[in-house]
Amino acid sequence: MSEQNFDVVVIGAGPAGYVAAIRAAQLGLKTACVDMFTGKDGKAALGGTCLNVGCIPSKALLDSSRQFHNLTHTFGVHGISARDAAIDVPTMVGRKDKIVKQFTGGIAALFKQNKVSAFFGKGRLLPNRQVEITAADGSKQTLAASNVILATGSVPIELPFAKFDGKHIIDNAGALDLADVPKRLGVIGAGVIGLELGSVWKRLGSDVTIIEALPDFLAAADAEVAKTAAREFAKQGLKIELGAKLSKAEIKGNEVHLTYAGKDGDKQLVVDKLLVAVGRRAYTQGVLADGTGVSTDERGRIVVDEHCWTGAEGVWAVGDCVRGPMLAHKGSEEGVMVAELIAGKAGHINMDTIPWVIYTEPEIAWVGKTEAQCKADNIPYKTGSFPFAAIGRAVAMNEPAGFVKMIAHAETDRILGVHLVGANVSELVAECVVAMEFKGSSEDLARIVHAHPTLSEAVHEAALSVDKRAIHKGN
Ligand code: NAD
Repeated sequence: MSEQNFDVVVIGAGPAGYVAAIRAAQLGLKTACVDMFTGKDGKAALGGTCLNVGCIPSKALLDSSRQFHNLTHTFGVHGISARDAAIDVPTMVGRKDKIVKQFTGGIAALFKQNKVSAFFGKGRLLPNRQVEITAADGSKQTLAASNVILATGSVPIELPFAKFDGKHIIDNAGALDLADVPKRLGVIGAGVIGLELGSVWKRLGSDVTIIEALPDFLAAADAEVAKTAAREFAKQGLKIELGAKLSKAEIKGNEVHLTYAGKDGDKQLVVDKLLVAVGRRAYTQGVLADGTGVSTDERGRIVVDEHCWTGAEGVWAVGDCVRGPMLAHKGSEEGVMVAELIAGKAGHINMDTIPWVIYTEPEIAWVGKTEAQCKADNIPYKTGSFPFAAIGRAVAMNEPAGFVKMIAHAETDRILGVHLVGANVSELVAECVVAMEFKGSSEDLARIVHAHPTLSEAVHEAALSVDKRAIHKGN
């Protein structure tokens, strides 16, 4: 086999693509991974959106801003006081950049260990599983593969009347790299990015207004969870305008002047920065040459079956560029599945047990169906819930907000969904995912010993509460 022939060529080194490449190499397949992302230092960087401008850097800033907020707002109850607390934004952003570099470099090291060949440049699928790579200097080379995995990810959606200029009107990447705290920050879209990055700058002192087109807050989440979260965000001073449609965003000097139609008619808002976070779209532009046999749907996503096969021989697609939620862990598992299928093994992903997490304060997490979905699907169900205010560990941590709610089938008791809002629920949801993956019932979780005192007792008590036998609350 010549150097430029591979068993597997992956286009995209985000969490879907790099995981697929590592798994394929582990299974003994000669693997290459192509990526075109350039880091802040101008050098090629692996890891895609998640590591460079998504999951990891946002968590770094969420943690820094949380520490600052606690120091200035909540440490008083512990008897801790600090004078002249200040945030140095360049130091905070520098810490974030160091973490990003550590992890993107970590993928390069993992590629080396696993003998995955990394190529830098824009990959394009040609007919017959050839992959053309165009480097930053315009030079081209072509790889031949038995299998190609497309993992090209997604890009932020741009509003035609509020185009990104990178300075005043910014996307998620821009909001991770501000030089100082904007006095007034406008956010379009109360989705995952709007809430997480809006929280970061609010905690650091910005006056944050989030404008959301839909009339309901967090429509994808359980209604009670959304209600509790909305109440907590309002307490934090995060202003969220629902049912508000932006019609104009004009940059005037160093300000952005917004016009939007709200519940009470047209409104104006002047901000210093505007973050547009109205969703992302699959990135497939220039990725597919004519005659590859791969098709895209009306939203530009690569069409695949339940095994992420495109229908063209040896061509697969995973992650944000295909149907399903745009979540790193969903893309990674699809990548593993495809690598295993290529290696002749069984590959599988259960779309019904993919956890969702929003890293606000309190955190929001869920897995499975909401009550509204059970009703819409005519599934008979019962619920049990338990508040963190009655959990000793949560109160000792000064984190009493939120609850765990479990939904189980009314006849079989099988867990259909679990909805959590509160401290560390990003971790607690894992137990619920495992229970659902094992087709567990609420009684299964109710009979399992949970350590005391821990936050996980809220999951235990919610399971007990399904059968109206919670111990630490009335039933
Ligand atoms: P999103 O889909 O989560 O939210 C976008 C919001 O913008 C929606 O509520 C939508 O109703 C609103 N919107 C759309 N057009 C609008 C308009 N013209 N005016 C006002 N509001 C408008 O999208 P996002 O927050 O941009 O995130 C993009 C993707 O990245 C999502 O799929 C998300 O799952 C993923 N992501 C996940 C995480 C996480 O898992 N914690 C974090 C960040 C991003």
